[in-house]
Amino acid sequence: TAKKMGKNDFVIFEEHMASELKAQVSMTSDLRKALINREFHLVYQPQVNLYNHRIFGAEVLLRWNHPVRGPVSPAEFIPVAEAHGLIDQLGEYVLRCAIKQIADWKRQYGRAVRLAVNVSPRQFGRFDFVSQVGLMLEEFQVDGRLLELEITESALAKDIETAVSKLMELRCLGVGVAVDDFGTGFSNLASLKRYPVDLLKIDRSFIRDIPHDQDNLAIVIAIVQMAKTLGLKILAEGVETIDQIRVMRQQGCDLIQGFYVARPMLVDQFEKDYLSGSGQESGAL
Ligand code: C2E
Ligand code: MG
Ligand code: MG
Ligand code: MG
Repeated sequence: TAKKMGKNDFVIFEEHMASELKAQVSMTSDLRKALINREFHLVYQPQVNLYNHRIFGAEVLLRWNHPVRGPVSPAEFIPVAEAHGLIDQLGEYVLRCAIKQIADWKRQYGRAVRLAVNVSPRQFGRFDFVSQVGLMLEEFQVDGRLLELEITESALAKDIETAVSKLMELRCLGVGVAVDDFGTGFSNLASLKRYPVDLLKIDRSFIRDIPHDQDNLAIVIAIVQMAKTLGLKILAEGVETIDQIRVMRQQGCDLIQGFYVARPMLVDQFEKDYLSGSGQESGAL
């Protein structure tokens, strides 16, 4: 604690802050270069339906291969991009690649794959966000119903009126909206019914320790019940074990995503496992 800190500790603390700041500045300039040097790519993690064993869609996740550091986690670089004004460009890049991928798969495999794209709060907050999405769908001639946007509770809670009108505009385009990391941010569950969203993604932190953790189990059950009451689809993220699958199935949560089914994978692997031949069923279930 601060009280116990001596003078030397404080110097160390300051040095730590300075190096932290330096690291952020250098990451920001690296991120700028990375966009130009094409150091990003997307991976795809299937979302499957427990009842018909079919693939429901896939979540698109961004990967950065730093020339010196190697792979950097999005959990590390997305917040930096968000804080330093690079998320607009990065977010646009991901959205464009994902929509183009939907079009390519339609053309190459004759298959309509639904992709879920993460949208950062700042990106969603842009006044022209919805029109940007609409223009891209038009550019690649993609049906909006094949696109889902994952938005966190905190991004939705910022300016409720504006958020709701954006969600309604997205709905007009046919675009689905999922609330990501559900359960970690909402102060007021009742307000959820005001948002025209389609799906709740139960945060991995609640799934992780079920069925052993009774509190988390109770929370998961409550979320599933509430989703059903509100007529929303529900998906469990971070499912790693067969026990977790059993619980979700018992509770009537039919959509799951997690390492138990598959890790996020490169485009070639996804095509091999899910698009070529009859590979639309999920063997793991
Ligand atoms: P998220 O949207 O909640 O994505 C789910 C994260 O959980 C992914 O981590 C995924 O690889 C991981 N995951 C999936 N199944 C399991 C499992 O069974 N066990 C465990 N331990 N983890 C699992 P990832 O790819 O590292 O992404 C972390 C976060 O970074 C994402 O969380 C999302 O918030 C953000 N992110 C990733 N790509 C993008 C992007 O293109 N745009 C934006 N704005 N954010 C992104
Ligand atoms: Mg997500
Ligand atoms: Mg999530
Ligand atoms: Mg998350």
